[in-house]
Amino acid sequence: MTAPFRNFIAGEWVAPTEAVPNVNPSNLTDVVGEYARGGAADVDAAVAAAKAAFPAWSRTVPYARHEILKKVAAEIFARKDELGRLLSREEGKTLAEGIGEVTRAGQIFEFFAAETVRLAGETLPSVRPGVGVEVTREPLGIVGMITPWNFPIAIPAWKIAPALAYGNCIVFKPAELVPGSAHALAEIIVRAGVPAGVFNLVMGKGSTVGQRLLDHPDITAITFTGSVSTGRKVAAAAISGEVMKKVQLEMGGKNPLVVLDDADLPIAVETAVNGAFFSTGQRCTASSRIIVTEGIHDRFVDAVKGRLAQLTVDDALKAGTHIGPVVDESQLDQDMRYIEIGRAEGATLAYGGERLNRESEGFYLSPALFTEATPEMRISREEIFGPVAAVIRVKDYEEALAVSNDTPFGLSSGICTTSLKHATHFKRNADAGMVMVNLPTAGVDFHVPFGGRKGSSYGPREQGSYAREFFTQVKTAYTLA
Ligand code: ADP
Repeated sequence: MTAPFRNFIAGEWVAPTEAVPNVNPSNLTDVVGEYARGGAADVDAAVAAAKAAFPAWSRTVPYARHEILKKVAAEIFARKDELGRLLSREEGKTLAEGIGEVTRAGQIFEFFAAETVRLAGETLPSVRPGVGVEVTREPLGIVGMITPWNFPIAIPAWKIAPALAYGNCIVFKPAELVPGSAHALAEIIVRAGVPAGVFNLVMGKGSTVGQRLLDHPDITAITFTGSVSTGRKVAAAAISGEVMKKVQLEMGGKNPLVVLDDADLPIAVETAVNGAFFSTGQRCTASSRIIVTEGIHDRFVDAVKGRLAQLTVDDALKAGTHIGPVVDESQLDQDMRYIEIGRAEGATLAYGGERLNRESEGFYLSPALFTEATPEMRISREEIFGPVAAVIRVKDYEEALAVSNDTPFGLSSGICTTSLKHATHFKRNADAGMVMVNLPTAGVDFHVPFGGRKGSSYGPREQGSYAREFFTQVKTAYTLA
């Protein structure tokens, strides 16, 4: 057996005392590798190294950081097919989706390479005579990063790239299910020349490695993407110490897609199927509530069912697969449980929702479409995080808008319409961080802010130049000339 993949701490690849297998959800006999399972002591060593590295790193000229990030981007682009394959193999999204995500990670590093030299401040006159005021941005210190399994390289990239660009040190804990992409990214970052201690990878469990990041007094800030229930714990723990940590949380969604009578039917069908079921529905921006007005409802449902029948659910790495497996057994159990709940609540399972057998043993589930769902049902309110969507029939636009906003979440809201009036009104009145018109609720650009409202997000936005709000802190300096 090959040696386990190691954590990277204080400038060294550290042999683990414990390692766990990383299993391919498309083929349970395929082990991607054995990966280190670190513990609290590894976090402590990483934080000590980061603390030692921070004074010099935070004062490097921005161009030095620019060069490192540019190298990271270049290697990611050069190896996108191979890294995409690794990602799809360990996570289960299709190869095209895996390569797309890796490309996105490269673009993010490229974007933040350029951002290093754009960190402008302000100078203002004081209200007092002879005094000048400067407002500048400084790095935070040591940022702890806790990431989920559904975007194994893009989410780490959109946390790591801005953190490095603005001069912070990092302790990164990826999700247990997808250490392969995290480890490959770490190797690239190390090769690009990040000084020892600046970047540390500690793979391991949330309850040990994650918890220690939250509890460590020398960590200045925590950026987390994951479930709402863990997010709450993260926020509470992060502010319980003597010095409260800055916290950024990206959590769940129950994203609505409104389809109006005047929608272009083929666009609406593609938008719904892509948003609800691609990447196996395992996107926090996935459309899980499809809110459809009466006049188009039956035609729309028939067309969606027809489209779903054309999709192939199979091994993520096989050519021709449109939807890969669910990520693991516990997620599959959760999806199946919600399919039962939907039935028991009285919704109609109009398509799919069955476990499928394929050539290799994996967690295959046919995309499940419920119809005749009501806004009160649990399948309309709770995040399922799988290929399960519910169609809710409504009378008109006003009811559609009200139903779409009737949720504790507020990440992404979409509408399919050819009416400028309704599109404009929806953009203004959707209570969500992101709004999509004739586009899937999932699928965003890398250079503009990403994040939600209400129960979906907490703290400053991620991505684009808005990332500086979280990854820097402001200083106001007064000088008597
Ligand atoms: P998911 O359903 O996507 O696995 P989680 O919120 O459970 O969502 O996990 C997201 C990340 O949070 C993972 O990296 C996980 O290890 C981590 N995590 C889980 N529990 C804790 C915890 N108590 N403290 C810190 N991190 C945690």
